[in-house]
Amino acid sequence: MSCTFDDIVAVSTPSGLSPKAIIKLSGKDVVRHVQKFFLSTDALEITDVDGFRSYFGSMHLEAEKILIPVSLYVMKAPNSYTREDVVEIHTFGSPPLLEMIFEALLLVGKCDDCQPSDNGEEVVIRIAEPGEFTKRAFLNGRINLAEAESVLRIIRAKTDSEFLLAVSRLRGITAFMNEVQGGLMKLCAEIEASIDFSDQDIDLISATRIESQLLSLQEKINTSIEKNCISRIPHDGVRTVFVGWPNTGKSSLFNKLSNYQKALVSSIRGTTRDVLESVVKWEGIYFCITDTAGMMYGEDELESAIRKRTLDSLKDAHIVLFVFDGSVGVCREEIEFLCSISSDNVIIVLNKSDLPQHREKKRRCLEMDNYSVVETSAQTGQGLDVLKDLMVSTVLTKSVDMSASGITFSLRQKIIIEKVREVVVKLLDSLHQEIGYELIAIDLRCAIDIVAEITGEVATEDILGMVFSEFCIGK
Ligand code: GDP
Repeated sequence: MSCTFDDIVAVSTPSGLSPKAIIKLSGKDVVRHVQKFFLSTDALEITDVDGFRSYFGSMHLEAEKILIPVSLYVMKAPNSYTREDVVEIHTFGSPPLLEMIFEALLLVGKCDDCQPSDNGEEVVIRIAEPGEFTKRAFLNGRINLAEAESVLRIIRAKTDSEFLLAVSRLRGITAFMNEVQGGLMKLCAEIEASIDFSDQDIDLISATRIESQLLSLQEKINTSIEKNCISRIPHDGVRTVFVGWPNTGKSSLFNKLSNYQKALVSSIRGTTRDVLESVVKWEGIYFCITDTAGMMYGEDELESAIRKRTLDSLKDAHIVLFVFDGSVGVCREEIEFLCSISSDNVIIVLNKSDLPQHREKKRRCLEMDNYSVVETSAQTGQGLDVLKDLMVSTVLTKSVDMSASGITFSLRQKIIIEKVREVVVKLLDSLHQEIGYELIAIDLRCAIDIVAEITGEVATEDILGMVFSEFCIGK
């Protein structure tokens, strides 16, 4: 007889010693299984109750002859995360205790031990695969695929700021996708109506109107892709960018802060040619620090490419560290560049404080009210702790608005949204070439299907595998 019942169990808290741990079960018969071991303090049968309820009591493990105090949380289908019956067993986080409960639950579901169900199939509980609870929530219509991915990010969030970012993504992606999908569907419906009723005397959608709607969609997509640089970042940290004139000590500071020699340091101007990144963690906050080549005003091809990269990395920066060489005089263009940076979180780093300081320059920097100023020496390490503290307090005082970073897509979502953008470009092209509305409607439908891949309305096994394989067991 095949074991077709699919009740799952997992320890849903991180492994190791902790004051509390949760064992989670989901499936058709999980309440019945748990009931076999559970002695309620109020002598209540947990199978009796509908909806959501908590119980206190103990798990009676006959083989080990022990009673383990637990709280049970029972959520009956469909009012649970997976939309199946879910039981959470909350108990002490002792690994041996958890193992005993876990084994007892798995045993109760083993084929030789279990009772055939009403339809003759055997009852089985198996260990959940990574992300299986969330996968079921998706398959049973509780959440869409984009939301499932955001759940993954929330689970992985290591700090409050990352958590806030993950939550804001959850909202942002859903709203954005609804907007794009809604726009495409509305346009498609209008074009299809124009085709269907072309022989009737009603106002049909004009090519100009189709074009303006497509352009507006294209702009929305472009803006969201431009704002979205998260997939370039190893961990979603606070994006912190070093900028300034060459030779001011950016790479030396970058190396000191990231604790290793990643960037090449040299007294030759323009040694750093590329944008380097490093992730560091202070006070529980992850910072993704970027060292740029600095501002170059030369006109040759390489210098303008470097300038463009430096300016690009400024666009998405949460914090800008503007480095001055405190030992040399003020340069007008340097100050102009500083003032042109639109970020609210610019910290002036007056570096080379170990050398005799240029008094006029220091005075001018300290006079600039809009910026915090910190004096450092990458050579001696002086002031680096003050700089770190300033970065941390910039985040904690909420002047870094993590939620303002727009919608940030996962790599999968980004690939899909870029495909949608390609279709929109193709549609505009078709329109200019006066290709028939029928073909335009077909391409629009194709774009709608592509968008649906993000939310999971069109979900192939490949997509599901890609999303859920990144989860940990128990989520
Ligand atoms: P970048 O072009 O802005 O990245 O500057 P680098 O980090 O490559 O440094 C340029 C030169 O300044 C190198 O010779 C460094 O050793 C030197 N330098 C950097 N920081 C300091 C500092 O705080 N004090 C002193 N005395 N020299 C420094």
